[in-house]
Amino acid sequence: MLRNTVLKSLKIIVFIITFYAFSQLYSTRNLNITEDLDRIIGERSNLPATWVGSLDVDKNIPILILAGHADSQGLAGAGTSGEAVDKFGFNPMHPGMSDELFWNLKLQESIVKLGKKKGLNIRSYDPGIRNIDDANDPRTNWSVGRRFAKRGGYAIEIHFDAYGKYGVGSGLIPPFSETPNKIDESIASTFGRFPVLFRGGLGAPRRQIRVLEIGKLEGLLEKNLRNLKTRQKTIKLLTSEIVQAFLNGIN
Ligand SMILES: [Zn+2]
Repeated sequence: MLRNTVLKSLKIIVFIITFYAFSQLYSTRNLNITEDLDRIIGERSNLPATWVGSLDVDKNIPILILAGHADSQGLAGAGTSGEAVDKFGFNPMHPGMSDELFWNLKLQESIVKLGKKKGLNIRSYDPGIRNIDDANDPRTNWSVGRRFAKRGGYAIEIHFDAYGKYGVGSGLIPPFSETPNKIDESIASTFGRFPVLFRGGLGAPRRQIRVLEIGKLEGLLEKNLRNLKTRQKTIKLLTSEIVQAFLNGIN
């Protein structure tokens, strides 16, 4: 009797292990789609942009990574809620913020972590307060970024673009009145480029803060971010492309 029970349990355990192994193999195979940056981030901006970043950059240039919309939740500029929420009715990733900000923050942290490991002089800023009415309040992304850029640093705000016809695609918006440098060129050669005067010059570029649109928050990119099995790998892929672009621009 006891032997039978033990045998039965053993069978179940073997079955579970086999099932787990196969499911892991299967999901790892599916993960390979995230290896392809072009497929993941989708279309690049095809707006006419003629700028070229040719200015040399000091290899110890201080870099500041800002998460787009970190201080404008609940206002008009909260960022895109993405295709999944807006079009397909999924729950937002976080009740208190737009999906775009949720991913901007995840990526911000990841970029700074890997960047430090690779020897970049890199840091992040998060205002913490998610709703600051006045863009010129000294605690906003833009005020901190503006001061940082004025002192010779490289300030960049990361974004995900709106889905479908509401967005443009991936690409870098260079600073408004500063000459684009080799980091700008390197990022643009990976992600694409926007014209300097995009939408008449946005708040960030007018303060000499670069804007990186990583990709539209839709399709494969958003699916791979939302799927718990592919999330880390997708964030890692985007992170390593961005950090590599910094390294290429500096060297
Ligand atoms: Zn945005």
